[in-house]
Amino acid sequence: MKQYEMWIGGKWVDAESNKTYPVYNPATGEELTRLPLGGASDVDTAVIAARRAFPIWSKKSQAERSQIVSKIAALIRENAQELGNIDTLDHGSPLKRAAFSAARLSDRFEWAAYNARSLMGHTVPQSSDVLVYLQREPVGVVALITPWNIPLGMIVQKLAPALAVGNTCIIKPPSIDSLQALKLAEILEKLELPPGTVNVVTGPGGTVGHALAIYRGVDMIAFTGSCETGKELISLSSQTVKRLQLELGGKNPIIICEDADITSAATEMMNGQMMNSGQTCAAPGRFYVHEKVYDKFVEACITSIAKNWVVGDPNDEKTTMGPLVSAEHRDHVEGYIKSGIEQGARLVLGGKRPATGPLNKGYYVVPTIFTHVSQKMKIAREEIFGPVACIMEPFSSDEKVLEMANDNTFGLCAHVWTQDAARGMRFSNDLQAGTVWLNNSIGGGPELPWGGYKESGYSKEGSLYGLYEYTNLKRVAVDIRSLKK
Ligand code: NAD
Repeated sequence: MKQYEMWIGGKWVDAESNKTYPVYNPATGEELTRLPLGGASDVDTAVIAARRAFPIWSKKSQAERSQIVSKIAALIRENAQELGNIDTLDHGSPLKRAAFSAARLSDRFEWAAYNARSLMGHTVPQSSDVLVYLQREPVGVVALITPWNIPLGMIVQKLAPALAVGNTCIIKPPSIDSLQALKLAEILEKLELPPGTVNVVTGPGGTVGHALAIYRGVDMIAFTGSCETGKELISLSSQTVKRLQLELGGKNPIIICEDADITSAATEMMNGQMMNSGQTCAAPGRFYVHEKVYDKFVEACITSIAKNWVVGDPNDEKTTMGPLVSAEHRDHVEGYIKSGIEQGARLVLGGKRPATGPLNKGYYVVPTIFTHVSQKMKIAREEIFGPVACIMEPFSSDEKVLEMANDNTFGLCAHVWTQDAARGMRFSNDLQAGTVWLNNSIGGGPELPWGGYKESGYSKEGSLYGLYEYTNLKRVAVDIRSLKK
């Protein structure tokens, strides 16, 4: 069993308490290893290290900093297979995709390194005697608090822009899925980063995350996770008026009109629903299907699942769906399935664990479809975060379906499927969501912004808008007449 330490101030260290906690392989239920149980005193050490590193890292020329950040991209590609293997081990991601997903993250560092070099300020016209200019500066020490659903991806989305523009960082990875973050630290160790530029503190959110949120020496929290934790962070960080970036949950509406390409819609939307065992913030949450194509769409969904989704050991080449991340999360998803049945939704597929064999030891739930889900049911209102598709009662009026699609506390993303361009554009305009896809589900690179409306959070990740989140904008006014030399 490999022993792990945390990475603080450029050193590998145990928790000050010397305590550890176990992490498990979700495919087998077996203990994989133990990690340092970080606490408030470890956060203290990490913040002091990050504060010390800040003047050194932030004062490097942008060109030098960008060159170092570009090297991270190359090292991520070199280590993609190992990073992928780790993802399979502690998260249960099918091996076939895991290395590919890790390699793709190098693009985030490349994009941030390149674009940070063009982070221009402005001058603002005043009078010929007065020069006013605006410049962007790094915020300072940024705490990255991230979820388990895409363990490395969620860190990289924040780390790449934060580092590239000159911040120093403390990563608080998800406690159950921290191994990729520690491997990333091993990669970063090979670079000429000042000690403390990036730190990784492992341990539970309630202690490590809490300590970061209230610490005066932390200037910004970049958070992705649940709405409940997001709300708690708003309250905790208010004590020191920290910058807060929030990427929270979703219960995303999908509108399928009667003139849609039903086979494409069903295939793409089931892929979105079942990918990563449904543990994706952008997964469809509520399908609104026109009454004229309702049965046809349900049939097409069932067919597409039979064709594309194989539940199994994530190390098996044939597997496309691995286990859920933990026993606790499997119980949580099963609780929603039970609630759907009790509240009268029709279970037309799945709803259970795999029948027999070795998979029983892992935390598996098979692809599940409910139909005739009504707007008030718990499974229609809350994020399930599992391989469970909720097809709502059929609709017949565009006006009514738009109202129902917007009737939710979340506003992360939405899909519309119709071949009527004007109808599609009207829905896109009126849906309350940070991203709307019309007849597609094309993914996004680092140049595209991502972020929700309503309780799905605020601020943007990705794109120049996302890069700016990690900067302060300073106004400098100079009276030229006062300058002597
Ligand atoms: P979570 O809120 O339980 O945990 C997220 C992180 O916060 C973890 O590192 C956790 O240890 C930490 N944390 C927990 N309690 C804390 C506290 N009191 N103070 C400080 N930190 C604390 O979320 P999760 O279960 O890991 O992730 C799933 C959620 O993430 C879902 O709601 C999903 O929709 C959301 N998510 C959103 C996006 C997006 O882009 N909007 C992307 C991925 C996941």
